[in-house]
Amino acid sequence: MGKNCSGCRYFYEEKVHHHPRLMISEEEYDAFQKELQDFEEWLEENLHREIDIHGVVDGIKPLFKKRVYEKGNGFSFSGFLIIFKQLYFGKDLMEDHVYARVSSRTYASLKLGQGDVVTARATLLLDRGRLVLKKLRRIDIEARGEPPFWDESKALVARETATHMPAQPEGCMQCPFGALVDVEDLRNGQTKKYRQLYCLRGMPHFLACDLYSHYSDSDENLDESPPNSAACTTRKVNVAGKT
Ligand code: SF4
Repeated sequence: MGKNCSGCRYFYEEKVHHHPRLMISEEEYDAFQKELQDFEEWLEENLHREIDIHGVVDGIKPLFKKRVYEKGNGFSFSGFLIIFKQLYFGKDLMEDHVYARVSSRTYASLKLGQGDVVTARATLLLDRGRLVLKKLRRIDIEARGEPPFWDESKALVARETATHMPAQPEGCMQCPFGALVDVEDLRNGQTKKYRQLYCLRGMPHFLACDLYSHYSDSDENLDESPPNSAACTTRKVNVAGKT
């Protein structure tokens, strides 16, 4: 009984080596590497710079920040997040989500809604994998879509009743009540940063929600495992002839 030392005849050691294996074809992998390189070059050119943007608003959500302390949480409201499914940066089309942060006052004056066609100048940042625009100016609404869904008072009520979702299912991400909250966890003398999904309609769970099927893809896998980080590889930058 006890520990088997290497000199003992009962000692048996099995070494298991794990090697990464390509699950896609060489051609697909090369195409992905090329796309990634194009994206990184584009990012290097545009990051922290002011640039012309043009796109259709896909949704708007209140922007909350959560701080986790040893003895409780703080939940602050810091404006609104305008979501674009794709966006022109000058003549380059970014075929991926781009987010623009605006203050509550700017949002109220613009009265933005889903489907609005927006042209502006903005500064590009990268926030933990997300392309985020700030300092929007010279904002022009070229065409109107739907009326605004949120306002500040609705957002402040939602802040009090919001519920934390255990996973980040696609349906909640598409739903106007699903908000990804930036979390700063200050417990144990360290600062950890991550995001959590909150339902601003106060549903206890997405599987019990009547709206969920409306916003989800029926083929979606509804397990509660973390989202596949490979999703970030869907980004594409095209140099397109915008007129
Ligand atoms: S639980 Fe329902 S209401 Fe809440 S974010 Fe998800 S789909 Fe929307």
